[in-house]
Amino acid sequence: MKAIALRKNSTTVELIDIPRPRPKADEVLVKTIRCGLCGTDREIIRRGIPDVPPGEDFLILGHECLGRVESMGAETETDLKVGDLVAVQVRRGCNQCNACIGDHVDYCYTGRYTERGIHKVHGFFTEYFVDKPKYLISVPNDLEDLGVLAEPMSISTKAYEIITRLMGRVCFDGACSLRGRKEKALVAGHGPIGILAALLFVVEGYDVSVLGRREKGDFQREFIEFFGSRYLNIAGDEDRKFVDKEGGFFLIIEAVGRGELMFRLPELLSRNGILILTGVPRGPQEMCFDGNSFMANLVRYNQTVTGTVNASRENFQMGLNYLRMFKEKFPETASGIITGRYTLNNWQEAFDKKAPNEIKAVIEFE
Ligand code: BGC
Repeated sequence: MKAIALRKNSTTVELIDIPRPRPKADEVLVKTIRCGLCGTDREIIRRGIPDVPPGEDFLILGHECLGRVESMGAETETDLKVGDLVAVQVRRGCNQCNACIGDHVDYCYTGRYTERGIHKVHGFFTEYFVDKPKYLISVPNDLEDLGVLAEPMSISTKAYEIITRLMGRVCFDGACSLRGRKEKALVAGHGPIGILAALLFVVEGYDVSVLGRREKGDFQREFIEFFGSRYLNIAGDEDRKFVDKEGGFFLIIEAVGRGELMFRLPELLSRNGILILTGVPRGPQEMCFDGNSFMANLVRYNQTVTGTVNASRENFQMGLNYLRMFKEKFPETASGIITGRYTLNNWQEAFDKKAPNEIKAVIEFE
């Protein structure tokens, strides 16, 4: 079978031929339907030193998968049946810390986890793969079209789950802030995680803004305005102007991964505001930042800044519910998130260069 892999010390992805895996007694064989390409994949390729599985010289990439159960080992304990659609969790726990033993691998304490397609275990840009049922999440048939977004959606859902927990400390009688007011939420960045987070805020009833660099009339900007969020252009300082006029944002989700932007966001927070970071800035960068004001505001205004990585099984399940809501409320937007579909005949185009208006590119395996 075919797989898309990166060899040790290489920055060129290759289509390789490997034997189809056979499930062990407690494993499930999954046939990949499609798999999404993301910033992490591009970063692994750019760096050219993939974390290959022990003893091997390549890493099969891909961690955003929708597949179909093909067969099951004789001793699998699961409600899944042959033919069921599944999404797959990315991380495999260390089995040593309380988080991993308690099935919260996303909060692993030791750092001795592995991640499919990223860190020491092969991913899903392959026609078939095997896994333990506990990492497979059943995807309802009516979400066949959007199920490939379950993984990026799980990241946005986890960010929101953390926000709601942190909101608990600043909500009184079930409400935050001024009585009857729609809270303002900001999403910085409009890649897949940003757009999915903005949609989530919209369906949860927030007054939503998205921060980016697109000018009026731009395709992506119009795409975002179409589902009812306001676009603020960082180039024109529109975020700062908005905050001066309307007050700060109660909730901010960051999904860009650039230090200079991340350090700009705390000043956009309101009193009791919560900023959650999902992007990973790469390489060292020195910059000028007013640390005293940052710390003083955290204290004086009860603000919270926190990061989040990876996601739990529950986040995948909650994410699938959100995807269904998006599909019902904004069918065109939901389907429009997948902007590029490639096959094993032209897969290279997807990896070569990010298309100008790309949100999510997927490789179709069926
Ligand atoms: C994935 C996460 C993963 C993280 C770090 C992200 O692209 O969505 O599941 O934990 O990369 O490797």
